[in-house]
Amino acid sequence: MFLSTRVAICGAGPSGLSQLHAFESARQCGLQIPEIVCFEKQNDLGGQWNYTWRTGFDEYSEPVHSSMYQNLWTNLPKESSEFVDYSFDKHFGQAFTSFPPRTMIYDYIRGYAEQNNVRQYIQFNTVVRWISYSEDTKRFNVLVKDLKKDEMRSEEFDYVIVATGHFSTPDIPYFNGIETFPGRILHSHDFRFAHDFADKHVLIIGSGASAEDIALQLYKYGAKSATLSYRTKPLGFKWPDGIKEVPLVVKIDKETAYFKDGSSQEVHAIIFCTGYIYHFPFLDDNLRLKSPPRSLYPPGLYKGIFWLNQPRLLYLGMQRSTFSFNIGNVQTWYARDVILEKIILPSTKDEMQCNMALWQEKGKSVQNLSDYVHFQKEYILDLIAATDYPRFDIDRMSNTFLECIKSRTENMLTYREKTYASVLTNTIAKQHHVPWLNEMDDRLENFIKK
Ligand code: FAD
Repeated sequence: MFLSTRVAICGAGPSGLSQLHAFESARQCGLQIPEIVCFEKQNDLGGQWNYTWRTGFDEYSEPVHSSMYQNLWTNLPKESSEFVDYSFDKHFGQAFTSFPPRTMIYDYIRGYAEQNNVRQYIQFNTVVRWISYSEDTKRFNVLVKDLKKDEMRSEEFDYVIVATGHFSTPDIPYFNGIETFPGRILHSHDFRFAHDFADKHVLIIGSGASAEDIALQLYKYGAKSATLSYRTKPLGFKWPDGIKEVPLVVKIDKETAYFKDGSSQEVHAIIFCTGYIYHFPFLDDNLRLKSPPRSLYPPGLYKGIFWLNQPRLLYLGMQRSTFSFNIGNVQTWYARDVILEKIILPSTKDEMQCNMALWQEKGKSVQNLSDYVHFQKEYILDLIAATDYPRFDIDRMSNTFLECIKSRTENMLTYREKTYASVLTNTIAKQHHVPWLNEMDDRLENFIKK
């Protein structure tokens, strides 16, 4: 690494912040680090957790990034997603529920960024417009727009790290007759307030995490019914009265939806929970990750990070993940050490491809949730082994995750009342004084004592 090396990080969500922390911690240990610039299009850090009431476009007419809704609570215990070097105990100084509302996670992420002193590297309100690589200069040309000043400028970098997330650009299929539907149609990206749907029969298309949680939100905030329509298989939970699962929609005729099993349902609103696509409109075609979103090991990324055709382009957090913040965090330590030349990448594309093929082969034997957790565990351990990333009891963290899934399957309405122990500090979470179903006050003050 030369003193003049420049690194661009696109995005200041949890992954981008972890990358900044990885560099900053090396600097604080006395290592020489490259010049780092992080471009963030929003006016603050936090990525998805930086909630906005806006939908569609933001104040600069840029597409809104966050898909979070007002009353979102985590659906996994916080103990399965703590940053290994910044526990919830450290941030809040007291025990609280295992399933906090998003306001608390946002506060925690901000604390993580402040303690690691990374704000200094971030240029806010600055959107990355275009990135190309020049074989002549062996550098990336990065074109950005300062949204406040309405000015474009371009800069050259030796490395580019893409940490722009993949839960912002909806995938919306077509259904026969949908144009005849007179009510509100939206994607979960634009879902903000469940009480908008009180007293309505709502059709939810999809059977993933968003479909599940939005159905419960609708139940909590008084929808008349939620009908979840699945393509391949139902989620199969024991739903409360008022929520049901049906096969795929075959036709919509005005306010009636017809399903593959011959049944039908009166519908007043339709919410597409049909997922998101990878969308990197700022990347030149030969740099752009195009594989199906959230595979276990995205094709084209060596170690799940380095773009095979140009390994100085790095992607963070692109795989399906149960370890949430930690998978991105571990990746950033590895990425940093490659940039600092402490880890040397294989010298040929063939070698990288051979390694990727091994992981893809392993991925084929993933049949169920526990295989999936095991696969990710192995992936994380492989990255950790090469770096000084803080060691943690990953088996215990995996068990916390699996226990939560079991308890969610047993009772959707009460699983958030369970408490788990922190793998980092052993502190056992405190049960919240009001069950999730009855708690309408998501403010931080309602969850922690001052
Ligand atoms: P993001 O958080 O998406 O951050 C990407 C950043 O890049 C954003 O700040 C964005 O503004 C910026 N950006 C994008 N494009 C550009 C550009 N062109 N130029 C400059 N900046 C740009 N995870 C959990 O652990 N627990 C949960 O309970 C949970 N619930 C979720 C619920 C919902 C509804 C959603 C959508 C996600 C949820 N997640 C949850 C996953 C969440 O995405 C991750 O926790 C985390 O936010 C991923 O971090 P990231 O930094 O990779 O991406």
